[in-house]
Amino acid sequence: MSKIQILFLGAPGSGKGTQSEKITEEFHVVQISTGDMLREAVKNGTELGIIAKAFMDEGSLVTDDIIIKMMKERLQAIDCQKGFILDGFPRTVTQATALDTMLQTSLECCLTHVISLEVPDEPIIERLSGRRISPLTGKAYHVKFNPPAVNGMSEDGKTPLIHRDDDKSETIIKRLEVFHSQADMLKNYYKPSGKLHIVDGSKDPAAVYEDIRKILS
Ligand code: AMP
Repeated sequence: MSKIQILFLGAPGSGKGTQSEKITEEFHVVQISTGDMLREAVKNGTELGIIAKAFMDEGSLVTDDIIIKMMKERLQAIDCQKGFILDGFPRTVTQATALDTMLQTSLECCLTHVISLEVPDEPIIERLSGRRISPLTGKAYHVKFNPPAVNGMSEDGKTPLIHRDDDKSETIIKRLEVFHSQADMLKNYYKPSGKLHIVDGSKDPAAVYEDIRKILS
């Protein structure tokens, strides 16, 4: 199969991370999540992390210039040459146009698939408010739909799972508003390319993955 360079569009909690993980395992491409990169910067207390934290805590988007600079560097890394999945970037049309330029100049390539994972707001709120993250592996659990082996604990059975600050109710609502304010513009940006695929993300993760596999094969 030829190299795949996928972009996932979709609300926070639509399953982009879960599906990216499955694709990564099967297709051996690298997953690039701007949210994960920013959280790592916050954890390490870098200058980028300090600036980004304020935006993230209130559920707003970090400014385009910061994100574009971060992604320009990331896409130049050697691991991107075997193919990649973009999860959470671009989130604005400004970022999308910058991405096109980056791909042409650094990798001499373009996106092969743009997959929009669509889920109504109500289940998204339920997914995000119950989501818990393992600080050991980064794996996402859910208090109801995907509980860990030991209640509230990571894989070692003793490290508590994390409830992300921005997965708390008021911030979830704000993040969804921000998502909806950009979603149609982004889809319209990619529609003419013929690479945009709409996928029903409200099915169970295995069924969603089957739909995605059909698109990729
Ligand atoms: P995520 O884990 O993808 O939901 O991202 C968490 C937070 O990181 C978002 O609510 C934003 O504050 C920030 N963020 C992640 N990706 C981007 C992006 N492409 N543009 C702007 N802000 C972003």
